Amino acid sequence: MPVVSLPAAIEPFKWADRATHVVVDVPLVQFTRLAADLVDTNGSVKIDCRFERNAQRRAYLRGEVSTVILVTCQRCLEAMQLPIQASIDLALVHDEDEAEKLPEDADYLILPEQGVVLAEIIEDEMLLNVPFTPMHEACDALAYQTEVKMDVPAPVKENPFQVLAALKKPSAKD
Ligand SMILES: [Zn+2]
Repeated sequence: MPVVSLPAAIEPFKWADRATHVVVDVPLVQFTRLAADLVDTNGSVKIDCRFERNAQRRAYLRGEVSTVILVTCQRCLEAMQLPIQASIDLALVHDEDEAEKLPEDADYLILPEQGVVLAEIIEDEMLLNVPFTPMHEACDALAYQTEVKMDVPAPVKENPFQVLAALKKPSAKD
C-alpha cells in the first residue's frame, strides 16, 4: 500500500526492502527553504516516488516531484509562475565506501538507517531545479512599457542657446 502522508522521519533502507511507494501532496509552505523566496506559498507539491532495490540489492529512491511556484521575475520584477518538475534517481548508501561501488555517473545520498527526513531530500531536489535568476520568456510588463514609449514620444526640449546659435550662423559666415 502506498504511503499517502509524509512521516517526519523514515528508515530509508527498510523502506527500500519493502519497495515502498510514496504518493503524497504536501503543502508548499512546509518546504521552508523553498517557500522563503516565493511571492505566494499557496499550492502543494506532488510527490510520487519509490524506495526500491535493484537486482544487485542496491537501494534507490526514484520518482517525480512536481509543483508550480510563484516567484519574482528578475527582469521586470513582476510575479511569474514557474513549474518545477524534478526527476529523482538517487542511490542510497550508508557511507563513501559503498558509494564508490556505484556506477560512476550515479547520483547518491549517504543516509543513516533511520531518522531521515524525506521532505528535506525532496526539497533539495526541487531547489536544484529552481533557476538562480528566474525570468519570463517575454516580460509583459516591459512590452507594455516599450509600447507606451513608442506611442507617446517624449517631447524634445529645445535648447534656447542652440536656437540662438542657429540664428547667428548665417551672419557669422558673412
Ligand atoms: Zn518578467
